[in-house]
Amino acid sequence: MHEPRSIAVVTGSRADYGLLLPVIEAIDRSPGLRMHLVATGSHYHSRTPTIREIRDRWSDLVEAPGSINSSDSMRAHADSFFGIGIDLLDAFDRCDPGIVVVLGDRAEMLAAATAATLSGRQVAHIHGGDRAEGIADESLRSAVSRLAHIHLAASEQSAERLERTGEDPRRIHIVGSPAIDGLLAVPPMSDSDHAELGKPRIAFLMHPTGRDPVIESSEATGILEACRSVGQTVALAPNTDPGRSGIMDGIESAGFRPIEHMDRRRFLGLLRKVDLLVGNSSCGLIEAAAIGLRVLNLGPRQSGRERGSNVVSLEHWSDRDLAEAMSGAIEAGRCMDPHPWGDGRSGTRIAGILEGVDLEVPGYAKLNTY
Ligand code: UDP
Repeated sequence: MHEPRSIAVVTGSRADYGLLLPVIEAIDRSPGLRMHLVATGSHYHSRTPTIREIRDRWSDLVEAPGSINSSDSMRAHADSFFGIGIDLLDAFDRCDPGIVVVLGDRAEMLAAATAATLSGRQVAHIHGGDRAEGIADESLRSAVSRLAHIHLAASEQSAERLERTGEDPRRIHIVGSPAIDGLLAVPPMSDSDHAELGKPRIAFLMHPTGRDPVIESSEATGILEACRSVGQTVALAPNTDPGRSGIMDGIESAGFRPIEHMDRRRFLGLLRKVDLLVGNSSCGLIEAAAIGLRVLNLGPRQSGRERGSNVVSLEHWSDRDLAEAMSGAIEAGRCMDPHPWGDGRSGTRIAGILEGVDLEVPGYAKLNTY
Protein backbone atom coordinates (compact mmCIF):
# COMPACT_ATOMS: atom_id res chain seq x y z
CA MET A 1 0.00 0.00 0.00
CA HIS A 2 1.47 3.39 -1.06
CA GLU A 3 1.54 6.41 1.25
CA PRO A 4 -1.03 9.00 0.10
CA ARG A 5 0.53 11.63 -2.15
CA SER A 6 0.96 14.89 -0.23
CA ILE A 7 -0.68 17.92 -1.89
CA ALA A 8 -0.63 21.56 -0.71
CA VAL A 9 -3.38 23.83 -2.02
CA VAL A 10 -2.54 27.53 -1.69
CA THR A 11 -5.30 30.06 -1.12
CA GLY A 12 -4.40 33.75 -1.08
CA SER A 13 -7.74 35.58 -1.17
CA ARG A 14 -11.51 35.15 -0.93
CA ALA A 15 -11.59 35.25 -4.74
CA ASP A 16 -9.56 32.05 -5.12
CA TYR A 17 -10.84 30.28 -1.98
CA GLY A 18 -14.40 29.96 -3.30
CA LEU A 19 -13.11 28.65 -6.62
CA LEU A 20 -10.69 26.24 -4.95
CA LEU A 21 -13.19 24.81 -2.48
CA PRO A 22 -14.52 22.04 -4.79
CA VAL A 23 -10.89 21.11 -5.53
CA ILE A 24 -9.88 21.17 -1.85
CA GLU A 25 -12.88 19.02 -0.92
CA ALA A 26 -12.24 16.52 -3.71
CA ILE A 27 -8.54 16.20 -2.74
CA ASP A 28 -9.57 15.82 0.90
CA ARG A 29 -11.95 12.98 -0.05
CA SER A 30 -9.38 11.11 -2.17
CA PRO A 31 -7.88 8.13 -0.34
CA GLY A 32 -4.71 8.39 -2.43
CA LEU A 33 -4.09 12.06 -1.53
CA ARG A 34 -3.26 13.92 1.67
CA MET A 35 -4.54 17.51 1.50
CA HIS A 36 -2.80 20.44 3.22
CA LEU A 37 -4.50 23.81 2.90
CA VAL A 38 -2.05 26.73 3.02
CA ALA A 39 -3.51 30.21 3.63
CA THR A 40 -1.76 33.47 2.86
CA GLY A 41 -2.24 36.98 1.43
CA SER A 42 -5.39 39.03 1.76
CA HIS A 43 -7.16 36.42 3.90
CA TYR A 44 -5.26 38.20 6.67
CA HIS A 45 -6.32 41.66 5.55
CA SER A 46 -8.33 43.33 8.29
CA ARG A 47 -11.11 44.43 5.92
CA THR A 48 -11.91 40.94 4.67
CA PRO A 49 -10.55 38.65 7.38
CA THR A 50 -11.71 35.47 5.65
CA ILE A 51 -9.01 33.62 7.59
CA ARG A 52 -11.54 33.10 10.43
CA GLU A 53 -14.00 31.37 8.10
CA ILE A 54 -11.19 29.13 6.82
CA ARG A 55 -9.81 28.28 10.28
CA ASP A 56 -13.31 27.28 11.42
CA ARG A 57 -13.57 24.80 8.57
CA TRP A 58 -10.00 23.42 8.34
CA SER A 59 -8.51 22.68 11.75
CA ASP A 60 -5.09 21.63 10.40
CA LEU A 61 -4.67 24.74 8.24
CA VAL A 62 -1.05 25.67 7.45
CA GLU A 63 -0.71 29.43 7.89
CA ALA A 64 1.65 31.70 5.93
CA PRO A 65 0.40 35.22 6.69
CA GLY A 66 3.34 37.19 5.25
CA SER A 67 3.28 40.84 6.25
CA ILE A 68 0.36 42.93 5.13
CA ASN A 69 1.07 46.57 4.43
CA SER A 70 -2.27 48.31 4.81
CA SER A 71 -1.57 50.97 2.13
CA ASP A 72 -3.11 50.22 -1.27
CA SER A 73 -0.11 51.47 -3.27
CA MET A 74 1.66 49.28 -5.83
CA ARG A 75 4.85 49.50 -3.76
CA ALA A 76 3.01 48.09 -0.72
CA HIS A 77 1.79 45.18 -2.83
CA ALA A 78 5.29 44.43 -4.07
CA ASP A 79 6.51 44.48 -0.44
CA SER A 80 3.98 41.94 0.72
CA PHE A 81 4.76 39.69 -2.29
CA PHE A 82 8.36 39.12 -1.14
CA GLY A 83 7.36 38.52 2.50
CA ILE A 84 4.76 35.99 1.47
CA GLY A 85 7.35 33.99 -0.53
CA ILE A 86 9.45 33.38 2.60
CA ASP A 87 6.42 32.42 4.69
CA LEU A 88 5.23 30.01 2.01
CA LEU A 89 8.62 28.34 1.89
CA ASP A 90 8.35 27.75 5.67
CA ALA A 91 4.79 26.49 5.24
CA PHE A 92 5.90 23.97 2.60
CA ASP A 93 8.68 22.80 4.94
CA ARG A 94 6.02 22.12 7.57
CA CYS A 95 3.67 20.05 5.41
CA ASP A 96 6.19 18.77 2.81
CA PRO A 97 3.95 18.44 -0.26
CA GLY A 98 5.11 16.72 -3.45
CA ILE A 99 2.74 18.91 -5.48
CA VAL A 100 1.68 22.49 -4.78
CA VAL A 101 -1.63 23.59 -6.33
CA VAL A 102 -2.05 27.25 -7.28
CA LEU A 103 -4.81 29.07 -9.16
CA GLY A 104 -4.99 32.08 -11.44
CA ASP A 105 -2.93 35.22 -11.68
CA ARG A 106 -2.43 36.79 -8.27
CA ALA A 107 1.04 37.78 -7.04
CA GLU A 108 0.78 35.39 -4.08
CA MET A 109 0.31 32.51 -6.54
CA LEU A 110 3.53 33.48 -8.31
CA ALA A 111 5.24 33.60 -4.89
CA ALA A 112 3.87 30.12 -4.11
CA ALA A 113 4.88 28.67 -7.49
CA THR A 114 8.39 30.13 -7.13
CA ALA A 115 8.81 28.88 -3.56
CA ALA A 116 7.52 25.43 -4.57
CA THR A 117 9.66 24.99 -7.66
CA LEU A 118 12.84 26.27 -5.99
CA SER A 119 12.33 23.84 -3.10
CA GLY A 120 12.06 20.89 -5.50
CA ARG A 121 8.28 20.48 -5.62
CA GLN A 122 6.02 20.18 -8.63
CA VAL A 123 3.51 22.95 -9.30
CA ALA A 124 -0.03 22.33 -10.58
CA HIS A 125 -1.69 25.45 -11.98
CA ILE A 126 -5.47 25.88 -12.37
CA HIS A 127 -6.79 28.46 -14.87
CA GLY A 128 -3.45 28.85 -16.67
CA GLY A 129 -3.63 29.96 -20.31
CA ASP A 130 -6.60 32.30 -19.68
CA ARG A 131 -6.36 35.91 -20.63
CA ALA A 132 -7.38 39.00 -18.61
CA GLU A 133 -5.54 42.29 -18.61
CA GLY A 134 -6.15 43.32 -14.95
CA ILE A 135 -3.31 45.35 -13.44
CA ALA A 136 -0.43 42.93 -14.12
CA ASP A 137 -2.64 39.83 -14.28
CA GLU A 138 -1.68 38.61 -17.75
CA SER A 139 2.06 38.73 -16.97
CA LEU A 140 1.63 37.12 -13.57
CA ARG A 141 -0.57 34.30 -14.90
CA SER A 142 1.84 33.48 -17.66
CA ALA A 143 4.80 33.62 -15.25
CA VAL A 144 3.02 31.01 -13.07
CA SER A 145 2.46 28.86 -16.18
CA ARG A 146 6.18 28.97 -16.98
CA LEU A 147 6.85 27.50 -13.52
CA ALA A 148 4.01 24.94 -13.55
CA HIS A 149 4.64 21.22 -14.16
CA ILE A 150 0.95 20.27 -14.42
CA HIS A 151 -1.48 22.58 -16.24
CA LEU A 152 -5.14 22.28 -15.26
CA ALA A 153 -6.66 24.44 -18.00
CA ALA A 154 -10.23 25.70 -17.68
CA SER A 155 -11.06 25.75 -21.39
CA GLU A 156 -9.89 24.37 -24.72
CA GLN A 157 -8.63 27.78 -25.82
CA SER A 158 -6.59 28.14 -22.63
CA ALA A 159 -5.02 24.72 -23.24
CA GLU A 160 -4.17 25.72 -26.83
CA ARG A 161 -2.52 28.93 -25.64
CA LEU A 162 -0.39 27.00 -23.16
CA GLU A 163 0.75 24.72 -25.94
CA ARG A 164 1.54 27.70 -28.16
CA THR A 165 3.77 29.15 -25.43
CA GLY A 166 5.96 26.05 -25.45
CA GLU A 167 4.36 23.97 -22.69
CA ASP A 168 4.61 20.22 -23.25
CA PRO A 169 1.15 18.83 -24.23
CA ARG A 170 1.76 15.87 -21.90
CA ARG A 171 1.56 18.34 -19.01
CA ILE A 172 -1.73 19.95 -20.13
CA HIS A 173 -5.16 18.72 -18.98
CA ILE A 174 -8.48 20.41 -19.81
CA VAL A 175 -10.56 20.23 -16.63
CA GLY A 176 -13.12 23.08 -16.85
CA SER A 177 -13.36 25.80 -14.21
CA PRO A 178 -13.92 24.78 -10.59
CA ALA A 179 -15.69 28.15 -10.23
CA ILE A 180 -18.83 26.60 -11.70
CA ASP A 181 -18.81 23.34 -9.70
CA GLY A 182 -22.03 22.99 -7.74
CA LEU A 183 -23.31 26.43 -8.74
CA LEU A 184 -26.79 25.44 -9.80
CA ALA A 185 -27.27 23.67 -6.47
CA VAL A 186 -26.86 26.99 -4.61
CA PRO A 187 -30.37 28.40 -4.08
CA PRO A 188 -31.19 32.01 -4.95
CA MET A 189 -31.05 34.34 -1.95
CA SER A 190 -34.18 34.13 0.21
CA ASP A 191 -36.85 36.83 -0.18
CA SER A 192 -36.21 38.08 3.36
CA ASP A 193 -32.42 38.41 2.82
CA HIS A 194 -33.11 40.07 -0.53
CA ALA A 195 -35.53 42.52 1.12
CA GLU A 196 -32.86 43.34 3.72
CA LEU A 197 -30.59 44.47 0.88
CA GLY A 198 -33.42 46.67 -0.52
CA LYS A 199 -34.56 44.14 -3.18
CA PRO A 200 -31.78 44.96 -5.66
CA ARG A 201 -32.14 44.02 -9.34
CA ILE A 202 -28.54 45.04 -10.08
CA ALA A 203 -25.33 44.02 -8.29
CA PHE A 204 -22.28 46.26 -8.75
CA LEU A 205 -18.76 44.81 -8.27
CA MET A 206 -15.89 46.86 -9.64
CA HIS A 207 -12.19 46.38 -8.84
CA PRO A 208 -9.44 48.98 -9.32
CA THR A 209 -7.25 48.78 -12.41
CA GLY A 210 -4.14 50.52 -11.06
CA ARG A 211 -5.15 54.07 -12.05
CA ASP A 212 -5.15 57.23 -9.97
CA PRO A 213 -7.73 56.80 -7.16
CA VAL A 214 -9.41 60.07 -8.24
CA ILE A 215 -10.17 58.55 -11.66
CA GLU A 216 -11.28 55.23 -10.14
CA SER A 217 -13.57 57.17 -7.82
CA SER A 218 -15.33 59.38 -10.38
CA GLU A 219 -15.81 56.44 -12.74
CA ALA A 220 -17.38 54.31 -10.00
CA THR A 221 -19.71 57.16 -9.02
CA GLY A 222 -20.84 57.64 -12.65
CA ILE A 223 -21.54 53.92 -13.12
CA LEU A 224 -23.51 53.69 -9.89
CA GLU A 225 -25.58 56.73 -10.78
CA ALA A 226 -26.46 55.06 -14.10
CA CYS A 227 -27.33 51.84 -12.21
CA ARG A 228 -29.63 53.78 -9.91
CA SER A 229 -31.46 55.29 -12.92
CA VAL A 230 -32.22 51.76 -14.17
CA GLY A 231 -33.08 49.83 -11.01
CA GLN A 232 -32.48 49.15 -7.34
CA THR A 233 -28.76 48.41 -6.91
CA VAL A 234 -26.50 46.84 -4.29
CA ALA A 235 -22.81 47.86 -4.29
CA LEU A 236 -20.18 45.36 -3.17
CA ALA A 237 -16.78 46.58 -2.01
CA PRO A 238 -13.78 46.01 -4.31
CA ASN A 239 -10.82 43.72 -3.61
CA THR A 240 -7.64 44.98 -1.93
CA ASP A 241 -5.70 45.83 -5.12
CA PRO A 242 -3.95 49.21 -5.51
CA GLY A 243 -6.60 51.88 -6.12
CA ARG A 244 -9.21 50.30 -3.84
CA SER A 245 -9.64 53.53 -1.84
CA GLY A 246 -10.72 55.35 -5.03
CA ILE A 247 -13.50 52.87 -5.77
CA MET A 248 -14.65 52.95 -2.13
CA ASP A 249 -14.82 56.78 -2.26
CA GLY A 250 -16.74 56.59 -5.54
CA ILE A 251 -19.31 54.20 -4.08
CA GLU A 252 -19.82 56.42 -1.06
CA SER A 253 -20.01 59.61 -3.19
CA ALA A 254 -22.84 58.02 -5.17
CA GLY A 255 -24.68 57.55 -1.86
CA PHE A 256 -24.25 53.76 -1.50
CA ARG A 257 -23.02 51.85 1.51
CA PRO A 258 -20.62 49.20 0.17
CA ILE A 259 -20.99 45.65 1.44
CA GLU A 260 -17.48 44.68 2.47
CA HIS A 261 -17.71 40.91 2.07
CA MET A 262 -20.39 38.29 1.55
CA ASP A 263 -19.54 34.65 2.08
CA ARG A 264 -19.45 32.85 -1.25
CA ARG A 265 -22.76 31.03 -0.80
CA ARG A 266 -24.59 34.28 -0.03
CA PHE A 267 -22.74 36.01 -2.86
CA LEU A 268 -23.82 33.30 -5.32
CA GLY A 269 -27.38 33.42 -3.90
CA LEU A 270 -27.38 37.14 -4.69
CA LEU A 271 -26.16 36.50 -8.25
CA ARG A 272 -28.97 33.98 -8.68
CA LYS A 273 -31.50 36.56 -7.48
CA VAL A 274 -30.55 39.77 -9.34
CA ASP A 275 -31.17 40.49 -13.05
CA LEU A 276 -27.83 42.07 -13.85
CA LEU A 277 -24.22 42.22 -12.64
CA VAL A 278 -22.30 45.41 -13.48
CA GLY A 279 -18.53 45.85 -13.11
CA ASN A 280 -15.33 44.05 -14.03
CA SER A 281 -15.20 40.90 -11.88
CA SER A 282 -14.13 37.57 -13.36
CA CYS A 283 -17.29 36.06 -11.90
CA GLY A 284 -19.26 38.01 -14.53
CA LEU A 285 -17.50 36.03 -17.23
CA ILE A 286 -17.26 32.66 -15.49
CA GLU A 287 -19.84 31.98 -12.75
CA ALA A 288 -22.49 34.26 -14.31
CA ALA A 289 -22.31 32.29 -17.59
CA ALA A 290 -23.13 29.07 -15.74
CA ILE A 291 -26.19 30.54 -13.99
CA GLY A 292 -27.39 32.57 -16.98
CA LEU A 293 -26.96 35.99 -15.35
CA ARG A 294 -26.69 38.99 -17.67
CA VAL A 295 -23.53 41.05 -17.20
CA LEU A 296 -22.37 44.50 -18.20
CA ASN A 297 -18.58 44.17 -18.16
CA LEU A 298 -16.82 47.55 -18.08
CA GLY A 299 -13.29 48.67 -18.94
CA PRO A 300 -10.11 46.73 -19.69
CA ARG A 301 -9.77 44.50 -16.58
CA GLN A 302 -11.15 41.37 -18.29
CA SER A 303 -9.75 42.15 -21.76
CA GLY A 304 -8.88 39.02 -23.69
CA ARG A 305 -10.87 36.62 -21.47
CA GLU A 306 -13.31 34.25 -23.17
CA ARG A 307 -16.94 35.12 -22.59
CA GLY A 308 -20.40 33.78 -23.33
CA SER A 309 -23.38 35.61 -24.83
CA ASN A 310 -24.59 36.64 -21.33
CA VAL A 311 -21.93 39.40 -21.35
CA VAL A 312 -22.07 42.85 -22.94
CA SER A 313 -18.69 44.59 -22.75
CA LEU A 314 -17.96 48.31 -23.03
CA GLU A 315 -14.38 49.64 -23.10
CA HIS A 316 -15.51 53.30 -23.02
CA TRP A 317 -18.96 54.71 -22.37
CA SER A 318 -21.21 57.70 -21.80
CA ASP A 319 -23.92 57.80 -19.10
CA ARG A 320 -26.46 57.14 -21.84
CA ASP A 321 -24.56 54.08 -23.15
CA LEU A 322 -24.55 52.65 -19.64
CA ALA A 323 -28.25 53.11 -19.02
CA GLU A 324 -29.16 51.69 -22.45
CA ALA A 325 -26.88 48.67 -22.07
CA MET A 326 -28.23 47.93 -18.59
CA SER A 327 -31.90 48.22 -19.58
CA GLY A 328 -31.33 46.09 -22.69
CA ALA A 329 -29.58 43.37 -20.70
CA ILE A 330 -32.29 43.27 -18.04
CA GLU A 331 -35.04 43.11 -20.67
CA ALA A 332 -33.29 40.23 -22.44
CA GLY A 333 -33.74 38.02 -19.33
CA ARG A 334 -31.67 35.01 -18.21
CA CYS A 335 -29.32 33.48 -20.80
CA MET A 336 -28.46 29.78 -20.65
CA ASP A 337 -26.37 29.69 -23.86
CA PRO A 338 -23.29 27.45 -24.02
CA HIS A 339 -20.11 28.68 -22.33
CA PRO A 340 -16.47 27.52 -22.43
CA TRP A 341 -16.00 26.63 -18.73
CA GLY A 342 -16.76 22.92 -18.68
CA ASP A 343 -19.42 20.75 -17.06
CA GLY A 344 -19.14 21.69 -13.38
CA ARG A 345 -17.14 18.60 -12.39
CA SER A 346 -13.71 20.17 -12.31
CA GLY A 347 -12.89 19.47 -8.64
CA THR A 348 -13.13 15.67 -8.86
CA ARG A 349 -11.39 15.69 -12.24
CA ILE A 350 -8.44 17.66 -10.78
CA ALA A 351 -8.18 15.35 -7.75
CA GLY A 352 -8.15 12.34 -10.12
CA ILE A 353 -5.33 13.86 -12.17
CA LEU A 354 -3.26 14.72 -9.07
CA GLU A 355 -3.69 11.17 -7.81
CA GLY A 356 -2.88 9.44 -11.08
CA VAL A 357 -0.27 11.67 -12.71
CA ASP A 358 3.16 10.11 -13.19
CA LEU A 359 5.52 12.70 -11.69
CA GLU A 360 8.51 11.19 -13.50
CA VAL A 361 7.04 11.74 -16.97
CA PRO A 362 7.71 14.37 -18.28
CA GLY A 363 9.41 15.06 -14.94
CA TYR A 364 10.47 17.88 -12.64
CA ALA A 365 12.95 19.61 -14.96
CA LYS A 366 11.04 21.43 -17.68
CA LEU A 367 12.01 21.51 -21.31
CA ASN A 368 9.83 23.80 -23.37
CA THR A 369 8.74 22.55 -26.77
CA TYR A 370 9.87 25.61 -28.78
N1 UDP B 1 -16.57 36.83 -3.63
C1 UDP B 1 -17.20 36.51 -2.44
N2 UDP B 1 -17.83 37.52 -1.78
C2 UDP B 1 -17.89 38.79 -2.24
C3 UDP B 1 -17.26 39.09 -3.47
C4 UDP B 1 -16.60 38.09 -4.14
O1 UDP B 1 -17.20 35.37 -2.01
O2 UDP B 1 -18.47 39.65 -1.55
C5 UDP B 1 -15.83 35.75 -4.32
C6 UDP B 1 -16.70 34.95 -5.25
O3 UDP B 1 -16.34 33.61 -5.10
C7 UDP B 1 -16.28 35.42 -6.62
C8 UDP B 1 -14.82 35.65 -6.40
O4 UDP B 1 -14.79 36.25 -5.10
O5 UDP B 1 -16.50 34.45 -7.59
C9 UDP B 1 -14.15 36.48 -7.45
O6 UDP B 1 -14.59 37.71 -7.38
P1 UDP B 1 -13.73 39.01 -7.47
O7 UDP B 1 -14.57 39.92 -8.26
O8 UDP B 1 -13.36 39.45 -6.08
O9 UDP B 1 -12.34 38.61 -8.16
P2 UDP B 1 -11.64 38.60 -9.57
O10 UDP B 1 -11.48 37.13 -9.94
O11 UDP B 1 -12.38 39.38 -10.61
O12 UDP B 1 -10.29 39.19 -9.28
